[in-house]
Amino acid sequence: MTIKNVCVYCSASRHLSERYLQVATDVGKVLVENNLGLVYGGGRAGLMGTVATSVLESGGHAIGVITEYIQAYEDRYDELDELHVVDTMHTRKQMMVDRSDAFIILPGGYGTLDEAFEIMKWKQLRLHHKPIVFVNSYGFWDFLKGMEDHFVEEKFLSEDDKNLFVIVDKIEDVMPALLAQEAEGLERAGIN
Ligand code: AMP
Repeated sequence: MTIKNVCVYCSASRHLSERYLQVATDVGKVLVENNLGLVYGGGRAGLMGTVATSVLESGGHAIGVITEYIQAYEDRYDELDELHVVDTMHTRKQMMVDRSDAFIILPGGYGTLDEAFEIMKWKQLRLHHKPIVFVNSYGFWDFLKGMEDHFVEEKFLSEDDKNLFVIVDKIEDVMPALLAQEAEGLERAGIN
């Protein structure tokens, strides 16, 4: 496996139920157990802060990238191993992508989807070949299932460009999915 750092996109909401916070804690532990560093948005709020706390408390490595503007609003996490405060949202997202070898998407809202769809499109454009895995706890991402088939059926996406991402229902399926997507990405890149 060549994956070293994994970018986690997820909610910054402060009003989530415990069951979603637990998902973020569990994913943080999986990263550390597999010797993977975390790259994320650098805040303390919501699932974002929870996944970072889980990584730090498990003895892992966490890199945050936040903007000047958003740092107060999302409560900048100063105890991270690396915290980058950048000028714009675009710089932030680019740095998060550059520092990561794979992406995990936990439940989230528009910000999470914005980031997820961006890297999905970049993968379609073959700007990267990194694994993209949605964690579908409590069926949160069920509405994305069938999306690619619909696009292909209506010819908005070619058959060759399918399988840009996978959706897993259980935390224990995250690592196997990352590995399978990594192999597929190498094939797509013509490396294997
Ligand atoms: P949300 O999923 O809506 O809770 O957003 C999660 C996080 O995504 C936000 O807190 C931001 O850190 C990040 N994000 C990504 N793109 C945007 C954007 N265009 N505007 C605001 N936040 C964004």
